[in-house]
Amino acid sequence: MAPMLRLYNTLSGAKEAFAPIDPAHVRMYACGPTVYDAAHIGNARPIIVFDLLFRLLRHLYGPGHVTYARNVTDVDDKINARAAERGITIRELTDGTLAQFHRDIGDLGVLGPEDVNAPGAPPRFIEPRATDHIAEMRTMIDALVAGGHAYVAEGHVLFDVPAMPEYGRLSKRPLDEMEAGARVEVAPYKRSPLDFVLWKPSKPGEPSWPSPAGIAEPGRPGWHIECSAMSAKHLGKTFDIHAGGIDLIFPHHENEVAQSRCCFGTPVMANVWLHNGFLQVEGEKMSKSLGNFITIRDVLNDWPGEVVRLTMLRTHYRQPIDWTLRGLEESSRVLDRWYNAAGDALAAETAPGTVVEALCDDLNTPAAINALHGLTEDAAALRAGAHLFGLLARTRSAREHDQVAASGVDVPAVEALIAQRKAARAAKDWPASDRARDALAAMGVSVKDNKDGTSTWTVAR
Ligand code: AMP
Ligand code: ZN
Repeated sequence: MAPMLRLYNTLSGAKEAFAPIDPAHVRMYACGPTVYDAAHIGNARPIIVFDLLFRLLRHLYGPGHVTYARNVTDVDDKINARAAERGITIRELTDGTLAQFHRDIGDLGVLGPEDVNAPGAPPRFIEPRATDHIAEMRTMIDALVAGGHAYVAEGHVLFDVPAMPEYGRLSKRPLDEMEAGARVEVAPYKRSPLDFVLWKPSKPGEPSWPSPAGIAEPGRPGWHIECSAMSAKHLGKTFDIHAGGIDLIFPHHENEVAQSRCCFGTPVMANVWLHNGFLQVEGEKMSKSLGNFITIRDVLNDWPGEVVRLTMLRTHYRQPIDWTLRGLEESSRVLDRWYNAAGDALAAETAPGTVVEALCDDLNTPAAINALHGLTEDAAALRAGAHLFGLLARTRSAREHDQVAASGVDVPAVEALIAQRKAARAAKDWPASDRARDALAAMGVSVKDNKDGTSTWTVAR
């Protein structure tokens, strides 16, 4: 029998046994990127963590039995401003940044539609874009107004928060406290400072769509409604898992819950809510003003995607993570060790139980990595366990080949130096042998002499 998956649920505040609503179809949603610029290394954390969860669920329930929707926010103030600045449409801007995002996360070993969806079968990986779901958002907003959960004021549609008694249940904030906190500069059209925007008028030059709720002027959606509309369309009115960064609990997820539950009259939006901790860089909050803002591409320019992925997963997803050079170096050494141990062996057919069990304990990646360390004597099992992590995708030989290609070393020059060194050693000319070795080291090449008299070489990283 498969081990039981347990997940820490923000909604209940406890680690719980996971039981999908439909045992034959697990449905999960993660709030994806706002694609106005290159994604930073903090944005990569939820993407990698929930990719690992998706892989684990596919392992436990079967690949055809798990649907993952990760949305793309392709309209918001920053996107509108950036597109206007460049004199292009928001679609042109977001197509470009989304393509870059796909290249970035593809290099981090994150599964995408092309890895998951089979022709003729229902899609299991969905990447819905907000601007493709405006009609669905309008329908929900109309239903919320009709049901007395939202009201129209000055071209806006606002969600009536005090009318929902359970508002605050996810973020565990009492209504009166929130109200006190929200009372600064309240927009005049709001009945309560807590009410949030479902729809708003577009300023001149901003993208706009026909409005809901009988509003004559065109407008655009607020942020939160997109996830309610897209999750309902692709996963259903109630689904299993909703995930995102810890910063999204309030207000974004709290508001998603309010919209979906009031629109559909359901007791929950999703049963399990998962939130990853934040990433900081070398002990400091990452920010443009501190000059420590790192894009995913910056890191990938210096490190292979596998090293970045492993570094992200060495910390448990709910803990804060400190992104450091030392951490990357350590991951690089771990991967060298694992690749050496796995060699060119094929993966075993099933992932090792120790690794699966550790992951089933609320994605305990540090314990699962320890379990992998224990498998270095069993190449096939190590490879199968690492595959579940999205690691060790290549054979050792293929990796070495890639490393040589990526390093840009002059292969004929290396071979010539190795031949010189070999001749010098045969002639017992140790100074000449050392010179050849130093020249190789300067190129980042290290030489290993094999027992059979041949030598092999590798480049750093
Ligand atoms: P944003 O582009 O700011 O909407 O963020 C997209 C996703 O990245 C959300 O799930 C955020 O919670 C997450 N995120 C943003 N910054 C960080 C960070 N420094 N550490 C971890 N997750 C982050
Ligand atoms: Zn969302």
